[in-house]
Amino acid sequence: MSSTPFDAIVIGAGPAGLTAGIYLARAKMRTLILNEGTAGGQLVLTHEVANYPGVESTSGYQLATTMKNQAQKFGCAIRSNVSVTRLDLHGETKIVEVNGRETFTAPVVILATGGRSRTLGVAGEADLRGKGISYCATCDGDFFQDKNIIVVGGGNSALEEAVSLTKYAASVTIVHQFDHFQASAHAVEEAKHNPKISFIMESTIAAFLGHDSLEGVKIKHIPTGEVTEAAIDGVFIFIGYVPNTETLRGLVDLNEAGEINVSPLLETNIPGVFAAGDSITKRYRQITTAVADGTVAALSAIDYLRTVGERRLVEEVANI
Ligand SMILES: Cc1cc2nc3c(=O)[nH]c(=O)nc-3n(C[C@H](O)[C@H](O)[C@H](O)COP(=O)(O)OP(=O)(O)OC[C@H]3O[C@@H](n4cnc5c(N)ncnc54)[C@H](O)[C@@H]3O)c2cc1C
Repeated sequence: MSSTPFDAIVIGAGPAGLTAGIYLARAKMRTLILNEGTAGGQLVLTHEVANYPGVESTSGYQLATTMKNQAQKFGCAIRSNVSVTRLDLHGETKIVEVNGRETFTAPVVILATGGRSRTLGVAGEADLRGKGISYCATCDGDFFQDKNIIVVGGGNSALEEAVSLTKYAASVTIVHQFDHFQASAHAVEEAKHNPKISFIMESTIAAFLGHDSLEGVKIKHIPTGEVTEAAIDGVFIFIGYVPNTETLRGLVDLNEAGEINVSPLLETNIPGVFAAGDSITKRYRQITTAVADGTVAALSAIDYLRTVGERRLVEEVANI
């Protein structure tokens, strides 16, 4: 099997990976981005982006397309809809195999595989995602001005985001599966004292209703099995987050939640391997934080490549 050499291989073409590609290719590094799905990552799931500085309002797809074109304009190669089937990261030359038949090599690999919000997995959820169902209050809260919404979950994220959503919404109903919350006492107290927030405990969403946009939900009371229907303008789901790092397990250092452990310069525990974006250990997952990570990882990688280049030159001179 022949292999094609690059200076840097980026795995993942979301905002973090595409930004890394822009910086690397602009610094004249031969760069390849490999992506499992459509380039753009979670951006392509985003109906409207209104919090990316310098762009008042755009669709996620448009922003992703601009980032992709920008990376390609600087010479970055992008391969979408491929599956990474083998990763050998330990040697000085990293080996990445795709689709079980093509290999690429580079001294540097940037992991930018992003993540996904945990879903309820019930009827209507996939179809109405972005059409009334959201997983991000910072991203979409503003679209629910004076509306009646539901927040699903009982941890810190759910309760804190429920409180923050009362800035916009007329009412927020928290639906939680247990009779108590997992959130801190402070977060629970804050939610309980907010006059816009009410609670439906020991209950879960059994189905989302609507065609072009969300119109209502079926709520199931878990102890009795009783199902009721309610009209609602929006539902925010905060039941956890899953980093896309399953294929990295055992290869790089991950924390208990499966997020990649990194240094402030976004180095992983393996020399020459960097990580950026939603897949790393961090608190805030936004487009701006992903592109910032992509920048830092690329600049750190360029520094690393310079050091490797200088060392090889010294070794070559010593061998003459
Ligand atoms: C519905 C929705 C709306 C949002 N709205 C906003 C908003 O308005 N404003 C905002 O700032 N943020 C918003 N976000 C969050 C934002 O989209 C993310 O924080 C951002 O996309 C993270 O970028 P990333 O590059 O780290 O990862 P991702 O965007 O997740 O991209 C990762 C890419 O890596 C690929 N990949 C994964 N595993 C592999 C593998 N093994 N091999 C190859 N490729 C792989 C994936 O297919 C994907 O394309 C929203 C998120 C969602 C889901």
